[in-house]
Amino acid sequence: MTTDDIRYSRQITLPAIGKNGQQRLGDASVLIIGAGGLGTPASLYLASSGVGQLLINDFDSIDASNLPRQILYRDDDVGKRKATTAAEKLRQVNPDINVIAMGERLDRDALPELVASVDAVLDCTDNFVSRWLINEITYAHNKPLIVGAAIRWEGQVAVFRNDLADGPCYRCLYTEDDENLNDCAGQGIIAPVAGTVGTMLATETIKLLLGLDSDLQNRLWVYDGLAGSSRTIGIRTRENCKVCGANTGN
Ligand SMILES: [Zn+2]
Repeated sequence: MTTDDIRYSRQITLPAIGKNGQQRLGDASVLIIGAGGLGTPASLYLASSGVGQLLINDFDSIDASNLPRQILYRDDDVGKRKATTAAEKLRQVNPDINVIAMGERLDRDALPELVASVDAVLDCTDNFVSRWLINEITYAHNKPLIVGAAIRWEGQVAVFRNDLADGPCYRCLYTEDDENLNDCAGQGIIAPVAGTVGTMLATETIKLLLGLDSDLQNRLWVYDGLAGSSRTIGIRTRENCKVCGANTGN
């Protein structure tokens, strides 16, 4: 047995994974945009599970108010850059994988080439402007997009298979009408709900990389942590969607 066989033995044991599946994870490259409450738990599990290349993007620095839920960071990390700090910790979690820190703000010019170079994109940002841009670029490049959100006691996860034909996109789900939805600074958030969403994102990403189907494909998973309940809602293609709609020429 090789070191890798031992390290990943509990995953390799699963019939849906096996040695080939584990190798597939090792060969995969994932872009994680946002190294905060969702991006830190998601990247932690993707790293520990052996996803071979992680690109961690965040232009922000660590604040003391981040510590309860941004679980890669410690007290003495306050003030440091999120992307480089997260990458450093992830390399400690799994020295076998390649972690690339990207501390710049990804704009319309930088995103396309980056998106085109990976197997999947995780949207772990916290604002609609970023989310809409990431959706637009991943849709244009037929790249799978896995989106998470968490606020108060509520969590959401959706998988957009932009690599397959005829699915809805994130913009079909949320439009300008939803722009007044606030961020967690104003509304608050209970830390473990961010963790629940982050780990769900990691599970969905692993399934996607393995070529496994998911019930969350083109569906929204909604978790109510306060009630202790969850449900899923189908996402319909919006006919006049600015990104994927019939009249956009896409
Ligand atoms: Zn759409």
